Amino acid sequence: MWTYVIIGVVVMLVAGLCFALAVAGFSGENFVEKLRQLDATPNSLRATTLSYVESINKRYFGGKLRLQDCPEFEDHYSRGVVALSEKTMQSNSIASFAIVSHELGHAKQDFSGDTLTKHWKLRRAVKICGLFFMPLFLAGTVLSLLWVFEILPQLVYVCLGVGLVAASIVIFFLAIILKWREIKIEREASDFALQFLGEYLSDEEVKLAQELLNAARLTYWASLIRTLLSWTLLTGKTKLFN
Ligand SMILES: [Zn+2]
Repeated sequence: MWTYVIIGVVVMLVAGLCFALAVAGFSGENFVEKLRQLDATPNSLRATTLSYVESINKRYFGGKLRLQDCPEFEDHYSRGVVALSEKTMQSNSIASFAIVSHELGHAKQDFSGDTLTKHWKLRRAVKICGLFFMPLFLAGTVLSLLWVFEILPQLVYVCLGVGLVAASIVIFFLAIILKWREIKIEREASDFALQFLGEYLSDEEVKLAQELLNAARLTYWASLIRTLLSWTLLTGKTKLFN
């Protein structure tokens, strides 16, 4: 009886792992494809993204957001500044509207509380801790093994070894928690984005934008999966602490 239970659990784990790896692999391509498609679809207003951002800025932020130029594909929001590339500003595509609305969603988060600022601080802290992840893990493992093989038989070495490995595991879980929180923050920014878009675009267009934002969110899940599985080396290179 127990043999079947164990076989069942193993099969489910393997199936789950395959599914997770498939999601991780699929998400990037899926997003790029949706992006390409909607980049070629103009919005029904025929308005540029710049005029849309200016309108939202006036309506929701009392004109307090600052606009800045940035290189292509690096559109982002940071501390009261919406940075957009020239191409994005002049574009009237639904893709452009969706991406910019998401950044405006982050602006709304920033203006209505400190979740985003806290997250940025935490991210920086985890990134610094991340530098110690591998050295701590390796040093701890080596010390523990030296104790196991009685090269360093004193108890203090194994205690130190286990302590260092434990510290590295704590850092690993911090990275996971951070990614998890990031997904929640991204989701909320996209929800705000859809509210903004709903004020300007048709239901059909908002639906298309939502598909793109969902595809973008899937890439965050993929990033979480890659982080979770990074130690198995199945997912290749991962930005564990970025
Ligand atoms: Zn975002």
